[in-house]
Amino acid sequence: METYLRQIPAVDKVLQQEDIKNLVYEYSHQVVVDAIRDVNQNLRNKILNKDIQDDFDVSMYNVVKLVKNRLDKWLQPNLRRVINGTGVVLHTNLGRSLLAKSAQKRLVEVANNYSTLEIDVESGERGSRYEHVTGLLTYLTGAEDSLVVNNNAGAVLLALNTLAKGEEVVISRGQLVEIGGSFRIPEVMEQSGAKLVEVGATNKTHLGDYEAAISDETGLFLRVHTSNYRIVGFSKEVSLQELVNLGHEKGLPVLDDLGSGTLIDFSQYGFSPEPTVQESIETGVDVVTFSGDKLLGGPQAGIIVGKKEYIEKMKKNPLTRALRVDKFTLATLEETLRLYLDFETALEEVPTLRLLTLEPEELEIKAKELAESLDELSNDVKVEVEKGYSQVGGGAFPSESLPTSLVKISVNNLTAEELGDSLRDLNPPLFTRIQSEKVIIDPRTIHEEEIDIIISHFATLIGEGRV
Ligand SMILES: *Cc1c(COP(=O)(O)O)cnc(C)c1O
Repeated sequence: METYLRQIPAVDKVLQQEDIKNLVYEYSHQVVVDAIRDVNQNLRNKILNKDIQDDFDVSMYNVVKLVKNRLDKWLQPNLRRVINGTGVVLHTNLGRSLLAKSAQKRLVEVANNYSTLEIDVESGERGSRYEHVTGLLTYLTGAEDSLVVNNNAGAVLLALNTLAKGEEVVISRGQLVEIGGSFRIPEVMEQSGAKLVEVGATNKTHLGDYEAAISDETGLFLRVHTSNYRIVGFSKEVSLQELVNLGHEKGLPVLDDLGSGTLIDFSQYGFSPEPTVQESIETGVDVVTFSGDKLLGGPQAGIIVGKKEYIEKMKKNPLTRALRVDKFTLATLEETLRLYLDFETALEEVPTLRLLTLEPEELEIKAKELAESLDELSNDVKVEVEKGYSQVGGGAFPSESLPTSLVKISVNNLTAEELGDSLRDLNPPLFTRIQSEKVIIDPRTIHEEEIDIIISHFATLIGEGRV
């Protein structure tokens, strides 16, 4: 034990190694010294705890290697790119939407330069950051006015707080949804200071139920688009149009939380009908909210469109300041919306739309390309291509399955879980699906250039004997 302890190289000796000098140059003296001390302390603890495995090694060569690994782990970005092999297009945990190329350019432009964020160029006077997207949003949706906040959860909170604080909000029981990550309508309602009044049954709500719930305290009707699940079979919901008519007859505003909110009618691409924002506005509804990074394919944002009188009130609510969007969101949202001026352009340029409308034949070619290369790597790697389905994700089109071709991989002597873990351990990490003891890669969410990275990931695992 004593000998081992004495063999641990001294910090200043380690600092003299050529590789370590390079690290000092790349990072800083202090950071490298701290890393060496940390590595040495770990080795010392192992010796003192008699935790000495076969690969225990206190040589200079190994200490340098450990220091390098330590610094790589420390200093690589935590928030970094991954390869999404899951086929879930709007994967909330992997960052939802990818931005269009032209939106990325705008992001760099406003990051590099001062901008017109809150200035009116003509007069030189103070302007509003919210004006930048109002023209496009009102043109594209037919609404009178708009406001953009941090995300749709924030948009719903702000709308409820502005329109119905201290008052009752009537909503159908079938719409009291939870949307992943702890967004529950009853809880948002409570935070907003509005009082929830549930009407109807889980599967059926009639217009009469809403009418019967109206009292002196009623401030608002709320419709939530149950975007992440469907009630099928013996069910009835009141249409937004009926609700708007009743609300306006009784002098009550109506709020529509559309969730994924799309500007394009997806039914022309074989999807089940999903209400568009324009259709919602056409009913005469007072306020509509939806996400920027779901089906729209823009940055994270909560987009509010509707009647000017209500939007004006929201702008004056102090909560708006707390939910404020930054210039990066506004620049990329503006550019994403601009692409929608021509739907054909939007379908080509907005990655979310492009991925959702990829042809099965195209996906099959990509799957086969990947499978053939993987198959050639080693006899221990078994690869098949099978027809299957991708998911939209992000709570949109829950019952929709998009036909794709899946690459199914199994490896001798390794469970699918172990293979999945190893693939996430590489750089960039590869996320896959696991199904019936196989690792599954769906080409839908993989860029063409990422196919080579995936192949080299498998080659690395084989080369290191991990497969
Ligand atoms: C996704 C969703 C939300 C939350 O939107 P975020 O932009 O994620 O905050 C709210 N309501 C509905 C109906 C949704 O689908």
